[in-house]
Amino acid sequence: MSYRPLYVFNTLSGEKELFTPIVEGRVGMYVCGPTVYSDVHLGNCRTFVSFDMIYRYLLHLGYKVRYVRNITDVGHLVGDTDTGAEDKIGRIARLERIEPMEVVQKYSNGFHEVMALLNALNPSIEPSATGHIIEQIEMVQKIIDNGFAYETNGSVYFDTLKYAEQTGQYGKLSGRVIDELINESRDNLKNQGEKRHPSDFALWIKADESHLMRWPSKWSVGFPGWHLECSAMSTKYLGTTFDIHGGGQDLKFPHHENEIAQNHGACLSNPVKYWLHGNMLLMNGKKMSKSDGNSILPMELISGNNDIFKEAFSPMTLRFFMMQSHYRSTLDITYDALKAAEKGFSKIKDAYNLIPRLKKAPGSQPVKINQTILSEIEGMYEDMGNDFNTPKALARIFELVSIVNIYHNNPQQEEGLNEESIRLLSSAFDTFVSDVMGIRLKDDILTDGENYTEGLMDIILELRAKARENKDWPTSDLIRDKLSEMNIQVKDGKDGVTWSTGK
Ligand code: AMP
Ligand code: ZN
Repeated sequence: MSYRPLYVFNTLSGEKELFTPIVEGRVGMYVCGPTVYSDVHLGNCRTFVSFDMIYRYLLHLGYKVRYVRNITDVGHLVGDTDTGAEDKIGRIARLERIEPMEVVQKYSNGFHEVMALLNALNPSIEPSATGHIIEQIEMVQKIIDNGFAYETNGSVYFDTLKYAEQTGQYGKLSGRVIDELINESRDNLKNQGEKRHPSDFALWIKADESHLMRWPSKWSVGFPGWHLECSAMSTKYLGTTFDIHGGGQDLKFPHHENEIAQNHGACLSNPVKYWLHGNMLLMNGKKMSKSDGNSILPMELISGNNDIFKEAFSPMTLRFFMMQSHYRSTLDITYDALKAAEKGFSKIKDAYNLIPRLKKAPGSQPVKINQTILSEIEGMYEDMGNDFNTPKALARIFELVSIVNIYHNNPQQEEGLNEESIRLLSSAFDTFVSDVMGIRLKDDILTDGENYTEGLMDIILELRAKARENKDWPTSDLIRDKLSEMNIQVKDGKDGVTWSTGK
């Protein structure tokens, strides 16, 4: 089977490369998931939505994809430091006087709800760090056996200098040099006394009595270092070398750099063929970050219950907003940008709803127009195949929106649209907007993720038609006005009643 060409920007080489999977027809993809100690903010969601789009496109191309996205529920320490600080989840458990696993469950549930709202597909496997302690301990042992790690006072550290000397690789992904790392580490990290070199990082950390989450090991009762889980779980589910590893840009160093070092330390091979990194969501020009107080939760934006934008934006408007920028560019969320996205998305939905109502032209006249539609579809494959260029593909969708509107507004044009054109138009929207970009076109009003809206609208409009038949104008007007309050506009036209969302 042949696949359409796909070029991806590989952070490791700094270049766009032709994607060729290790095993023909199959793709293994690992994406770093959330640390479940608080609600995911919209910035975190951007990264997961970007990789959802990538997953969807790979599936669309016909690959059989094993998509692993983990849940970090132990080992990620406050301030993203290495040792000496409290576990992020343990800290919340202590403050709220609940079990760490209650913290994990609560925020994992919340994360899943938000992902469903944003129409992200479930990964094939969602492993958690606490569920893979044995695999992590085994990996530490392998790294020690291969001479890339050492124990001090019950903790185990990765020997970065030895690894750098033997492989020349440490810092390759993030573009840092070891001397720079040594200085940086000396400034930032605690417990440096236990390490041979300041840039060494912890694989296993001895826990003190106050530490809530700890497990026995031959070195100490302790817990794994933050980076270890991803190495252990990606190896377990995707093998020692797999196709794609993803995550946000901010994870390049130290998290991903250390993942590579660990995998190499344990398996003596490079773990990942293509490293893909998504760029950051900014809010009013600054990186969205909870610790900096510059963040908004998806539910706050969807409900309108927030002091920042003070207005509700639907989940699919948010998804459209994200897809309008390339996943490797920064994206700044502002009120004006959200309003523009709402307007743009409305245009797409309106055009999509009009397609089945377009007047069909008799005969086989519109060869030219079919070719235009076909070339836009081909163009969208080129855009998506060029490192997932969703903004360019959306620009082509707007070209198709113009075609729909021209033929809708001038139905008596000689060169009308024939059935084939109408089918091509619908399939272009269904394929690229709905299936690949994950922007639901049919249902974006109810926020429960169910596809009820179309059916409900049919019933409501039927009741309204009955009221009009009976000359019950107050009821008919009441239905129209109430729908309008919900941002649903009903139009009585020559060809019947139509409805659309947006103002
Ligand atoms: P964390 O829960 O901190 O481990 O982060 C989960 C994911 O969200 C990681 O892939 C981060 O890179 C990503 N992330 C954090 N902040 C942002 C942001 N402002 N924009 C985009 N992605 C982000
Ligand atoms: Zn990770």
